[in-house]
Amino acid sequence: MGYDVVIAGGGAAGLSAAVLLARSRRGVVVLDAGEPRNAPAAHLHNFLSRDGMSPADLLAAGRDELARYGGEIVSARALAIERADGGFAVRHDGGDLNARAVLVATGLRDELPAIPGVRERWGADVVHCPYCHGYEVRDTAIAVLGGDNRPFTLHQASLVRQWSDDVVFFPHRIVMTDEERERLVARGIRVVDGEVARLLVDGGRVSGVELADGTAVPRETAFVGPRFVPDDGLLTGLGCAVGENGWVTVDGSGRTSVPGVWAAGNVVDSPAQLITAAAAGSSAGIALNHHLLALDIDSAVAACRVVSTVDA
Ligand SMILES: Cc1cc2nc3c(=O)[nH]c(=O)nc-3n(C[C@H](O)[C@H](O)[C@H](O)COP(=O)(O)OP(=O)(O)OC[C@H]3O[C@@H](n4cnc5c(N)ncnc54)[C@H](O)[C@@H]3O)c2cc1C
Repeated sequence: MGYDVVIAGGGAAGLSAAVLLARSRRGVVVLDAGEPRNAPAAHLHNFLSRDGMSPADLLAAGRDELARYGGEIVSARALAIERADGGFAVRHDGGDLNARAVLVATGLRDELPAIPGVRERWGADVVHCPYCHGYEVRDTAIAVLGGDNRPFTLHQASLVRQWSDDVVFFPHRIVMTDEERERLVARGIRVVDGEVARLLVDGGRVSGVELADGTAVPRETAFVGPRFVPDDGLLTGLGCAVGENGWVTVDGSGRTSVPGVWAAGNVVDSPAQLITAAAAGSSAGIALNHHLLALDIDSAVAACRVVSTVDA
Protein backbone atom coordinates (compact mmCIF):
# COMPACT_ATOMS: atom_id res chain seq x y z
CA MET A 1 0.00 0.00 0.00
CA GLY A 2 1.47 3.40 -1.10
CA TYR A 3 3.04 5.31 1.75
CA ASP A 4 3.38 4.54 5.42
CA VAL A 5 2.02 7.99 6.30
CA VAL A 6 0.36 10.77 4.34
CA ILE A 7 0.52 14.12 6.11
CA ALA A 8 -1.98 16.83 5.18
CA GLY A 9 -0.40 20.23 5.94
CA GLY A 10 3.25 21.21 5.66
CA GLY A 11 3.62 23.86 8.37
CA ALA A 12 5.71 23.53 11.53
CA ALA A 13 3.62 20.60 12.81
CA GLY A 14 3.37 18.59 9.59
CA LEU A 15 7.00 19.04 8.54
CA SER A 16 8.34 18.13 12.00
CA ALA A 17 6.37 14.88 11.95
CA ALA A 18 7.50 14.19 8.40
CA VAL A 19 11.21 14.65 9.19
CA LEU A 20 10.93 12.35 12.20
CA LEU A 21 9.16 9.68 10.16
CA ALA A 22 11.55 9.95 7.21
CA ARG A 23 14.50 9.59 9.59
CA SER A 24 12.72 6.49 10.96
CA ARG A 25 12.86 5.12 7.41
CA ARG A 26 9.12 5.34 6.91
CA GLY A 27 7.68 6.26 3.52
CA VAL A 28 6.17 9.69 4.09
CA VAL A 29 4.61 12.33 1.86
CA VAL A 30 3.39 15.78 2.83
CA LEU A 31 0.52 17.42 0.94
CA ASP A 32 0.74 21.16 1.43
CA ALA A 33 -1.53 23.96 0.25
CA GLY A 34 1.25 26.49 0.98
CA GLU A 35 -0.68 28.97 3.18
CA PRO A 36 0.86 28.82 6.67
CA ARG A 37 -0.94 30.91 9.26
CA ASN A 38 1.94 33.27 10.03
CA ALA A 39 2.72 34.02 6.35
CA PRO A 40 1.68 37.71 6.70
CA ALA A 41 4.40 38.29 9.32
CA ALA A 42 7.88 39.36 8.22
CA HIS A 43 9.67 37.65 11.13
CA LEU A 44 9.08 34.89 13.64
CA HIS A 45 10.04 34.80 17.31
CA ASN A 46 10.10 32.36 20.24
CA PHE A 47 11.49 29.50 18.18
CA LEU A 48 14.77 28.84 19.91
CA SER A 49 17.74 29.44 17.57
CA ARG A 50 15.50 30.88 14.78
CA ASP A 51 14.70 34.31 16.22
CA GLY A 52 13.90 36.87 13.52
CA MET A 53 13.81 34.35 10.65
CA SER A 54 11.13 34.81 8.02
CA PRO A 55 8.25 32.28 8.16
CA ALA A 56 9.00 31.23 4.57
CA ASP A 57 12.67 30.55 5.35
CA LEU A 58 11.76 28.33 8.33
CA LEU A 59 9.53 26.17 6.14
CA ALA A 60 12.08 26.12 3.30
CA ALA A 61 14.68 24.81 5.78
CA GLY A 62 12.18 22.17 6.97
CA ARG A 63 11.46 21.09 3.41
CA ASP A 64 15.20 20.78 2.70
CA GLU A 65 15.65 18.63 5.82
CA LEU A 66 12.79 16.39 4.77
CA ALA A 67 14.18 15.95 1.24
CA ARG A 68 17.59 15.01 2.72
CA TYR A 69 15.99 11.94 4.34
CA GLY A 70 13.88 10.91 1.35
CA GLY A 71 10.55 12.42 2.44
CA GLU A 72 8.36 13.84 -0.31
CA ILE A 73 6.31 17.01 -0.61
CA VAL A 74 3.43 17.54 -3.02
CA SER A 75 2.06 21.05 -3.44
CA ALA A 76 -1.62 20.21 -3.31
CA ARG A 77 -4.68 20.52 -1.08
CA ALA A 78 -6.05 17.34 0.47
CA LEU A 79 -9.78 17.24 -0.24
CA ALA A 80 -10.93 14.12 1.63
CA ILE A 81 -9.59 11.12 3.50
CA GLU A 82 -11.43 7.79 3.50
CA ARG A 83 -10.71 4.38 4.93
CA ALA A 84 -9.59 1.95 2.22
CA ASP A 85 -8.03 -1.54 2.23
CA GLY A 86 -7.14 -1.48 5.90
CA GLY A 87 -5.54 1.96 5.49
CA PHE A 88 -6.53 5.29 4.01
CA ALA A 89 -7.12 6.85 0.60
CA VAL A 90 -6.32 10.55 0.45
CA ARG A 91 -7.90 12.51 -2.38
CA HIS A 92 -6.17 15.76 -3.30
CA ASP A 93 -6.56 18.33 -6.03
CA GLY A 94 -3.89 16.57 -8.15
CA GLY A 95 -4.84 12.90 -7.65
CA ASP A 96 -5.00 10.20 -4.98
CA LEU A 97 -2.56 8.71 -2.48
CA ASN A 98 -2.78 5.67 -0.23
CA ALA A 99 -1.25 5.22 3.19
CA ARG A 100 -1.35 2.99 6.26
CA ALA A 101 -1.89 5.96 8.58
CA VAL A 102 -2.52 9.69 8.30
CA LEU A 103 -1.62 12.88 10.13
CA VAL A 104 -3.72 16.02 9.70
CA ALA A 105 -1.77 19.22 10.42
CA THR A 106 -3.81 21.72 8.44
CA GLY A 107 -3.78 24.57 10.98
CA LEU A 108 -6.52 27.13 11.59
CA ARG A 109 -8.00 30.26 10.03
CA ASP A 110 -7.97 33.60 11.83
CA GLU A 111 -11.36 35.22 11.24
CA LEU A 112 -10.65 38.91 11.77
CA PRO A 113 -13.13 41.49 13.07
CA ALA A 114 -14.87 43.14 10.10
CA ILE A 115 -13.35 46.57 10.73
CA PRO A 116 -12.01 48.36 7.63
CA GLY A 117 -8.22 48.51 7.70
CA VAL A 118 -7.72 45.44 9.92
CA ARG A 119 -7.19 42.89 7.15
CA GLU A 120 -4.93 45.24 5.17
CA ARG A 121 -2.45 45.66 8.05
CA TRP A 122 -2.81 42.10 9.50
CA GLY A 123 0.52 40.59 10.52
CA ALA A 124 2.30 43.96 10.32
CA ASP A 125 0.95 46.53 12.81
CA VAL A 126 -2.40 44.77 13.33
CA VAL A 127 -1.60 41.65 15.34
CA HIS A 128 -3.16 39.24 17.83
CA CYS A 129 -0.33 37.64 19.79
CA PRO A 130 1.76 39.67 22.25
CA TYR A 131 4.23 36.79 22.54
CA CYS A 132 4.84 36.90 18.77
CA HIS A 133 4.85 40.70 18.34
CA GLY A 134 4.67 42.43 21.74
CA TYR A 135 8.39 43.07 22.09
CA GLU A 136 8.61 44.59 18.61
CA VAL A 137 5.72 47.03 19.34
CA ARG A 138 6.76 47.78 22.92
CA ASP A 139 6.11 51.32 24.16
CA THR A 140 3.99 52.20 21.12
CA ALA A 141 0.48 53.66 21.42
CA ILE A 142 -1.59 50.47 21.34
CA ALA A 143 -5.28 50.00 20.48
CA VAL A 144 -7.08 46.79 21.42
CA LEU A 145 -10.18 46.39 19.28
CA GLY A 146 -13.22 44.44 20.44
CA GLY A 147 -14.38 41.75 18.00
CA ASP A 148 -16.25 38.46 18.09
CA ASN A 149 -13.79 36.65 20.36
CA ARG A 150 -14.91 38.28 23.62
CA PRO A 151 -12.94 36.33 26.29
CA PHE A 152 -9.73 36.36 24.25
CA THR A 153 -9.99 40.11 23.58
CA LEU A 154 -10.67 41.14 27.19
CA HIS A 155 -7.72 39.06 28.35
CA GLN A 156 -5.59 40.47 25.54
CA ALA A 157 -6.37 44.07 26.58
CA SER A 158 -5.04 43.51 30.10
CA LEU A 159 -2.13 41.42 28.83
CA VAL A 160 -0.68 43.85 26.27
CA ARG A 161 -0.42 46.56 28.94
CA GLN A 162 2.72 44.65 29.94
CA TRP A 163 4.41 45.92 26.75
CA SER A 164 3.20 49.53 26.79
CA ASP A 165 1.96 52.14 29.28
CA ASP A 166 -0.29 53.57 26.58
CA VAL A 167 -3.08 51.08 25.85
CA VAL A 168 -6.61 52.08 24.80
CA PHE A 169 -9.35 49.45 24.70
CA PHE A 170 -12.13 50.02 22.19
CA PRO A 171 -14.91 47.60 23.24
CA HIS A 172 -16.63 48.31 19.88
CA ARG A 173 -19.47 45.79 20.04
CA ILE A 174 -18.35 44.02 23.24
CA VAL A 175 -20.64 44.82 26.16
CA MET A 176 -18.53 44.78 29.34
CA THR A 177 -19.68 44.14 32.87
CA ASP A 178 -18.90 46.82 35.47
CA GLU A 179 -16.34 44.47 37.02
CA GLU A 180 -14.55 43.86 33.69
CA ARG A 181 -14.38 47.63 33.11
CA GLU A 182 -13.11 48.24 36.64
CA ARG A 183 -10.34 45.66 36.23
CA LEU A 184 -9.13 47.15 32.94
CA VAL A 185 -9.14 50.70 34.30
CA ALA A 186 -7.31 49.57 37.45
CA ARG A 187 -4.70 48.01 35.17
CA GLY A 188 -4.06 51.44 33.65
CA ILE A 189 -5.96 50.93 30.40
CA ARG A 190 -8.13 53.69 28.95
CA VAL A 191 -11.53 52.52 27.68
CA VAL A 192 -13.05 54.40 24.74
CA ASP A 193 -16.65 53.43 24.08
CA GLY A 194 -18.48 53.70 20.78
CA GLU A 195 -18.58 51.86 17.49
CA VAL A 196 -15.27 51.67 15.64
CA ALA A 197 -15.69 52.84 12.04
CA ARG A 198 -12.19 52.02 10.76
CA LEU A 199 -8.49 51.90 11.39
CA LEU A 200 -6.71 54.98 10.11
CA VAL A 201 -3.63 54.27 8.02
CA ASP A 202 -1.09 56.91 7.09
CA GLY A 203 2.07 56.31 5.06
CA GLY A 204 1.45 52.55 5.09
CA ARG A 205 1.20 52.39 8.90
CA VAL A 206 -1.62 52.36 11.42
CA SER A 207 -2.08 55.95 12.65
CA GLY A 208 -5.30 55.78 14.65
CA VAL A 209 -8.79 54.49 15.29
CA GLU A 210 -11.81 56.37 13.98
CA LEU A 211 -15.15 55.99 15.73
CA ALA A 212 -18.53 56.15 14.00
CA ASP A 213 -19.10 59.65 15.47
CA GLY A 214 -15.94 60.86 13.69
CA THR A 215 -13.68 60.96 16.76
CA ALA A 216 -10.11 59.94 15.87
CA VAL A 217 -7.81 58.46 18.54
CA PRO A 218 -4.15 58.40 17.45
CA ARG A 219 -2.61 54.88 17.72
CA GLU A 220 0.43 53.11 16.27
CA THR A 221 -0.41 49.44 16.78
CA ALA A 222 -3.70 47.52 16.93
CA PHE A 223 -4.33 44.21 18.64
CA VAL A 224 -7.42 42.20 17.65
CA GLY A 225 -8.92 38.93 18.83
CA PRO A 226 -9.72 36.83 15.76
CA ARG A 227 -12.12 33.90 15.90
CA PHE A 228 -9.95 30.79 15.58
CA VAL A 229 -11.52 28.34 13.13
CA PRO A 230 -9.78 24.96 12.78
CA ASP A 231 -9.26 23.60 9.26
CA ASP A 232 -10.49 20.23 10.48
CA GLY A 233 -12.84 19.10 7.70
CA LEU A 234 -10.55 16.13 6.88
CA LEU A 235 -10.83 14.95 10.51
CA THR A 236 -14.56 15.47 10.97
CA GLY A 237 -15.10 13.81 7.57
CA LEU A 238 -13.44 10.69 9.00
CA GLY A 239 -15.72 10.82 12.06
CA CYS A 240 -13.10 11.94 14.60
CA ALA A 241 -14.66 12.77 17.96
CA VAL A 242 -15.20 16.45 18.74
CA GLY A 243 -15.16 17.92 22.27
CA GLU A 244 -17.67 20.25 23.90
CA ASN A 245 -15.70 23.25 22.62
CA GLY A 246 -16.28 22.08 19.04
CA TRP A 247 -12.63 21.12 18.44
CA VAL A 248 -11.45 17.61 17.48
CA THR A 249 -10.06 15.83 20.54
CA VAL A 250 -6.65 14.17 20.65
CA ASP A 251 -4.53 12.47 23.30
CA GLY A 252 -1.05 13.66 24.29
CA SER A 253 0.46 12.14 21.14
CA GLY A 254 -2.13 13.64 18.79
CA ARG A 255 -4.08 10.37 18.40
CA THR A 256 -7.73 11.00 17.45
CA SER A 257 -10.65 8.68 18.22
CA VAL A 258 -10.27 7.04 14.77
CA PRO A 259 -7.56 4.35 14.68
CA GLY A 260 -4.67 5.31 12.40
CA VAL A 261 -5.58 9.03 12.35
CA TRP A 262 -3.43 11.61 14.15
CA ALA A 263 -3.69 15.42 14.30
CA ALA A 264 -1.16 18.04 15.44
CA GLY A 265 -0.66 21.79 15.66
CA ASN A 266 -3.23 24.55 15.39
CA VAL A 267 -5.86 22.28 13.81
CA VAL A 268 -6.50 20.81 17.27
CA ASP A 269 -4.74 23.34 19.52
CA SER A 270 -5.42 27.04 18.86
CA PRO A 271 -2.83 28.48 21.30
CA ALA A 272 0.02 26.37 19.86
CA GLN A 273 2.99 28.51 18.87
CA LEU A 274 5.41 27.44 16.14
CA ILE A 275 7.65 25.59 18.52
CA THR A 276 4.76 23.83 20.28
CA ALA A 277 3.16 22.94 16.95
CA ALA A 278 6.52 21.52 15.85
CA ALA A 279 6.78 19.58 19.13
CA ALA A 280 3.26 18.20 18.70
CA GLY A 281 4.20 17.09 15.18
CA SER A 282 7.29 15.37 16.52
CA SER A 283 5.28 13.55 19.24
CA ALA A 284 2.71 12.50 16.66
CA GLY A 285 5.52 11.22 14.42
CA ILE A 286 6.84 8.98 17.20
CA ALA A 287 3.35 7.69 18.03
CA LEU A 288 2.65 7.03 14.35
CA ASN A 289 5.89 5.11 14.05
CA HIS A 290 4.96 2.97 17.07
CA HIS A 291 1.50 2.38 15.57
CA LEU A 292 3.12 1.20 12.32
CA LEU A 293 5.54 -1.00 14.27
CA ALA A 294 2.61 -2.74 15.98
CA LEU A 295 0.98 -3.29 12.57
CA ASP A 296 4.29 -4.64 11.19
CA ILE A 297 4.62 -7.11 14.07
CA ASP A 298 0.96 -8.21 13.76
CA SER A 299 1.56 -8.99 10.08
CA ALA A 300 4.80 -10.82 10.82
CA VAL A 301 3.12 -12.95 13.52
CA ALA A 302 0.24 -13.77 11.17
CA ALA A 303 2.74 -14.77 8.44
CA CYS A 304 4.71 -16.97 10.90
CA ARG A 305 1.51 -18.70 11.95
CA VAL A 306 0.65 -19.50 8.34
CA VAL A 307 4.14 -20.98 7.79
CA SER A 308 3.88 -23.07 11.01
CA THR A 309 0.46 -24.36 9.96
CA VAL A 310 1.79 -25.35 6.50
CA ASP A 311 4.89 -26.99 8.03
CA ALA A 312 2.91 -28.99 10.60
C1 LIG B 1 0.47 37.00 11.98
C2 LIG B 1 0.95 35.84 12.83
C3 LIG B 1 2.24 35.84 13.31
C4 LIG B 1 2.68 34.79 14.09
N1 LIG B 1 3.95 34.83 14.60
C5 LIG B 1 4.40 33.82 15.35
C6 LIG B 1 5.71 33.88 15.93
O1 LIG B 1 6.45 34.84 15.77
N2 LIG B 1 6.11 32.84 16.70
C7 LIG B 1 5.31 31.76 16.93
O2 LIG B 1 5.72 30.84 17.62
N3 LIG B 1 4.06 31.67 16.38
C8 LIG B 1 3.60 32.67 15.60
N4 LIG B 1 2.35 32.62 15.07
C9 LIG B 1 1.55 31.38 15.26
C10 LIG B 1 1.97 30.35 14.19
O3 LIG B 1 1.54 30.83 12.95
C11 LIG B 1 1.35 28.98 14.49
O4 LIG B 1 1.78 28.56 15.77
C12 LIG B 1 1.81 27.92 13.48
O5 LIG B 1 1.58 28.38 12.16
C13 LIG B 1 1.09 26.60 13.70
O6 LIG B 1 1.66 25.64 12.85
P1 LIG B 1 0.76 24.53 12.13
O7 LIG B 1 1.73 23.63 11.44
O8 LIG B 1 -0.19 23.94 13.08
O9 LIG B 1 -0.13 25.32 11.07
P2 LIG B 1 0.30 26.20 9.80
O10 LIG B 1 1.63 26.81 9.99
O11 LIG B 1 -0.83 27.13 9.53
O12 LIG B 1 0.44 25.15 8.63
C14 LIG B 1 -0.68 24.48 8.09
C15 LIG B 1 -0.37 24.17 6.64
O13 LIG B 1 -1.38 23.26 6.16
C16 LIG B 1 -1.80 23.71 4.88
N5 LIG B 1 -3.15 23.18 4.65
C17 LIG B 1 -4.34 23.57 5.17
N6 LIG B 1 -5.33 22.78 4.71
C18 LIG B 1 -4.74 21.88 3.90
C19 LIG B 1 -5.23 20.78 3.14
N7 LIG B 1 -6.54 20.45 3.13
N8 LIG B 1 -4.35 20.06 2.39
C20 LIG B 1 -3.03 20.36 2.40
N9 LIG B 1 -2.51 21.39 3.11
C21 LIG B 1 -3.36 22.13 3.84
C22 LIG B 1 -1.74 25.23 4.98
O14 LIG B 1 -1.75 25.82 3.69
C23 LIG B 1 -0.42 25.40 5.75
O15 LIG B 1 0.68 25.41 4.86
C24 LIG B 1 1.84 33.67 14.34
C25 LIG B 1 0.54 33.67 13.84
C26 LIG B 1 0.09 34.75 13.09
C27 LIG B 1 -1.33 34.75 12.57
